[in-house]
Amino acid sequence: MNMPPSVCLLLLLLLGIAQTLPVQEKESHKGGHEDSHEDGHEDSHENGLNDSQDKGHEDGHEAHEEDTIDITTRILTANNGSKHFLFQGDLLAPKTRNAIFCADSSCFWTKYSNGYVMIPYVISNEYTANEAAIIENAMTGFYASTCIRFVRRTNEYDFISIVSKGGCYSELGRKGGLQELSLNRGGCIYRGIIEHELNHALGFQHEQCRSDRDSYVQINWENIIDGDAYNFYKQQTNNLNTPYDYSSIMHYGRDAFSVAYGRDTITPIPNPNVPIGQRNGLSFWDVTRINILYNCQ
Ligand SMILES: [Zn+2]
Repeated sequence: MNMPPSVCLLLLLLLGIAQTLPVQEKESHKGGHEDSHEDGHEDSHENGLNDSQDKGHEDGHEAHEEDTIDITTRILTANNGSKHFLFQGDLLAPKTRNAIFCADSSCFWTKYSNGYVMIPYVISNEYTANEAAIIENAMTGFYASTCIRFVRRTNEYDFISIVSKGGCYSELGRKGGLQELSLNRGGCIYRGIIEHELNHALGFQHEQCRSDRDSYVQINWENIIDGDAYNFYKQQTNNLNTPYDYSSIMHYGRDAFSVAYGRDTITPIPNPNVPIGQRNGLSFWDVTRINILYNCQ
């Protein structure tokens, strides 16, 4: 399957080619699969994901602050069997979009004269009040330090439709018109996952696909499930003059798409013990990039 060039290009546009110091934070989590592919084929990640790790968390209780499953593991587990072909695990990138279209910022959301980037959304009534509250509460994670605001749609043309379909996945950037962001009730109602998918909708790709990633992580190709190697291809990304960020909420966990438990697919270098795949929330650099991309004041 060919990876849509749009993905790479968008990243390129988003992130400048600047790299400074790699960033890392304190948390450490293991595991981790993450997102996607993109076009529209059946997702074939039925095998190779460590489903067993997540089973205990898919039943509805939501305060998982202390769990140890990383975000990519959760996302990929939830996406097992998805009818969609997801690029890099959770990206539902339209084939029709070419990165070239992003050159005029059409892939990004509109900033209004009030200084806010207002992103209309609707949320499916299949969620319980509690689930909807978790989703909307996760949106507020963007509010304290960015100019992003998610607002209930009235009649706007472009909007995000949050639904519980077969996995956790999102479009990359603003698609135009209705765009789906799936948060499956059984496996995606976690703050970190919600923020991760919303950040895709803002236009952000996975950290380990950055153009300069080879200086910061080693990809262990031999440990990647057959057919999934393309999920680790580098993209032409606009790194926005920000450093490689191991602590980004957009970073895969170390065993994303691994053939077996303990066979890491991503190893930070030179220090292999640097935590990756955190799912606690937007990192400092995640926030910084949003502010740069959307020119928040
Ligand atoms: Zn993702």
